[in-house]
This record gives sequence, structure tokens and C-alpha cells, in this order.
Amino acid sequence: MAPLWPVVAAAEGQSARIMELSEAGLPKAQVEAMTKRETDRYIQSNPISQQLGEDARANWIKGVPHHWMLDWSTPFPLFVADAMGATLTDADGHAYDDFCLGDTGSMFGHSPEPVARAIAAQASHGLTYMLPTEDIIAVGRLLEQMFGLPQWQVTTTATDANRFVIRWCRAITKRTKVLVFHGAYHGAVDDTFVRLKNGKAIHRPGLIGQVYDLTTHTKVVEFNDVAALEAALKDRDVACVITEPALTNIGMVLPQPGFLDALQDLCRKTETLLVIDETHTISTGYGGYTRTHNLKPDFLTLGKPVAGGLPTAVFGCTAEIAARMRVAEQEAGSGYSGMGTTLSANALQFKAMRANLEHVMTPAAYDHMLPLSEKLARGIEAEIRKRDIPWHVSNVGARAEFVCAPERPRNGTEAQAAMHGPVELALHLYLLNRGLLIAPFHNMTLVSPVTTPAQVERLVATIGQCLDELAA
Ligand code: PMP
Repeated sequence: MAPLWPVVAAAEGQSARIMELSEAGLPKAQVEAMTKRETDRYIQSNPISQQLGEDARANWIKGVPHHWMLDWSTPFPLFVADAMGATLTDADGHAYDDFCLGDTGSMFGHSPEPVARAIAAQASHGLTYMLPTEDIIAVGRLLEQMFGLPQWQVTTTATDANRFVIRWCRAITKRTKVLVFHGAYHGAVDDTFVRLKNGKAIHRPGLIGQVYDLTTHTKVVEFNDVAALEAALKDRDVACVITEPALTNIGMVLPQPGFLDALQDLCRKTETLLVIDETHTISTGYGGYTRTHNLKPDFLTLGKPVAGGLPTAVFGCTAEIAARMRVAEQEAGSGYSGMGTTLSANALQFKAMRANLEHVMTPAAYDHMLPLSEKLARGIEAEIRKRDIPWHVSNVGARAEFVCAPERPRNGTEAQAAMHGPVELALHLYLLNRGLLIAPFHNMTLVSPVTTPAQVERLVATIGQCLDELAA
């Protein structure tokens, strides 16, 4: 089977540039040779996944039920047979230490026992009724306790939570515009698919079927740029700023000291609502970045791990915002709100979410995750330093990211420039072939409450070996 990744094909025609250094500070030839070697090794080691991949093409567009399953470094998808805790087993019987954890959906471990038990218990009592159950009382209290916000709604994905919150912000403020930071990702939310190019807002490249101009209603500025933010908010036409407290979908961009304070001040001053998307930064600690750093958003959204991996998301707001929502609703009059999906807030989601919030996503879980992730981040950093490779590591609690550039990026443009697809491809494949999964999109690792120190040590040591081979 022909490898699908373009770098493999490119490797064959580039022997003349063999000694050229790649941008990430490693010899290009080594990177390309490793990619070729590891691609071959993957193909040889995974005949069952390969066959399943072939069979899947009969009925699934591109051979997968969702296109991003092709975003891994592998020439065909790795089929999963089982996952439990922080370990995943593939169809060919290989076991993996899982540091991807479903890109956060399973960041508290695969099938946490209390969640699995709750799902099994609810399974024979009806799954969705379009009516509430007693569990909503407990879950509401748990969410308030965790995030300090009193009023909540449930959706099925973080995408929906963000989309609905944007609607509410527009209705409340009677302003049409939304502001996002360059390089942000908040799910498949049309309003957020805007990027900066040479100081101008443009559509995010590659959008399918996008027929109207998103830049009419969305402003975009660089993260950590207070002056640009101030200029963008000064006309008081922005309903809300939606952001993660640290950007985690373009490598990792940490807020510079004072930036989040300035953001909150500017929002308050211009009566712009602030939406904090905690879907990834829930890794920071109990109650997410918001609680840990005492942020005061108007809305908070959280998806992915909130029900232990069952599709569920929530959005919460202050009492003041809830009151303004009631006014906006009266003003809109009777009819259809433009929000709501049939399966949202079903009984099964609530059973899973209650078990997860009561027994899994607890302060004790973070007591395990945070020091272990710190150990992982510092371990990778030491491996990089030992070999004098110009990379660095950032982390927000249980989430760590090694970035193939010397300086911490201050914004989305710098973060984008720090991405080195060919190096990341080789490294990801090397790790995967040795039973270690990290997130496919960049170099992100997650540590769960059941990840062990031995798993962390193995990942650190294997990254070291990989760097030895790459830098040789
Ligand atoms: N917010 C953030 C910060 C995310 O990273 C993502 C997905 N990666 C989402 C929202 C959307 O989540 P979902 O795809 O589950 O809707």
C-alpha cells in the first residue's frame, strides 16, 4: 500500500539536500529516514488494522466514520479493540500507554469505573425521555461547587455549548460581533472560523461549503496583544470575546502576565461579555483555569471529559447573566430560539456526568495528575536540553506540549511558525510503534488520574531515544 503522507514521497527526491538542517534544528535526512522506517514498521506490525481499513472503505467516506480519524501520523488508521484506564489495545493486540486520551474526552481515564457502572445501571431504565430526572439537582450543585457559577445548561458537544452561548451573548447585548483570538479553536462553530493574515481577518483555510462571509461578524486579534484587543473592543459592537485561557489547539500559547486581567478589564469597561472555554484547560486543576486563577467570566463552557467520555457538554453563567437571558427571551417573543438538540440533557448523560463529577473529576484526581504531568513535562525538557535541541515544553496542569522551537510562542502566528509537520510526524510514528500514543495534531500529552509514573518514565525515555536517532 502506498504511504498516504506526502513527506514520504518527498523524501525520495531530496537526497541532494541531505545535510540541510530542518527548521526544527534536526537533520532533515534523519527525519525523513525515520519517517520512512517507522511507516514501514507500522505497516508490517499492523496487518489487521490494515485489513480493517481496506474493508471500511466499502461503506465509509475515506474509510473512516469521521474524517479527522485520518489526522494521525499512520498510513492507515489504527483500529482499537479495547481501552481501559490509561491503556489502549489495538486490533493487532499491541498495548499502548495512552497520553492522547481521546484528545481530552477520556482525560480522566478510559471507562472510569464509577461512570461505567452508572451507564450500565441506567442502560435498562431508558436512555432519553425529553424529561428531567432527579440527577439534575445533584449535577447542578456539583457544577456550581466546581466552577462557582450558579446557572447551567447541558448540550451534547462543546461545539454546541459554544454556539449557543454566542447566540445568548448576541441576544443579551444586542451586538452582532464576536471576537476570537488568532489560532483559537472552539469546535465546529462557524462564527469562530476566522484567522488573521497580514493584519486582516480572513476565513480559516479549507472550510467546506462556507457560503457567507464570516468576517462580517467576527473580529480576530492576536492572543496576548492588549493594544489590539482594546482597539477591537472600543466601538462596543462586540457581543462577546470567546477564548481559552491558554490557547491549546495551536500547540500551546500561555497567557503573558497581566493579559487575562487586561482582557477581563477591557470586557468590563466596554460591556463585552467574556466566554471562557474550559474544554481543554480543565486540565489546569479542579474547577479548571477559571477557578485556579480566579477568573470571572460571564459564561463558561466545558465539553469532552465532563461526563467521562460520553458525549456531553455544559455551559454555565452568573446570576446576572441568567436574568439578562430571561429578558432577552421575553424580547424575542414566542417561537423557536435557534438552540436545542433532541438528545441533549438525556437521562444517560446525567447519570454519567453525576458519577464523573462526584467520583472521578475530583480534587484527589488532580492531586495525582498535576505532579505527574509536571514530572513528564520536566522529563521531556531534560531530554531536549541534554541533546541541545532548540525546543521547549509548556504545560497547563495535566496537559503538556513540547514545541519544536526555542521560544515560547506569544500568539497564534508564532505558534503556527513553531509547528514542524515532518518532525512531528516522525516522532509520533516512532512513539506509536513503541506503544506510546500522544495527541495526533501537535505534541500534546495528557496525564490521567490512573496514569502511572512508570508510563511517564517510559514516554520520557522513548522520546530521548527518538531524539538520539533523529539528532545522530
Ligand atoms: N473547545 C475547545 C477548546 C476544543 O479544543 C474543542 C475540540 N477540540 C471544542 C471546544 C469542541 O469540542 P467538540 O468537538 O467535542 O464539540
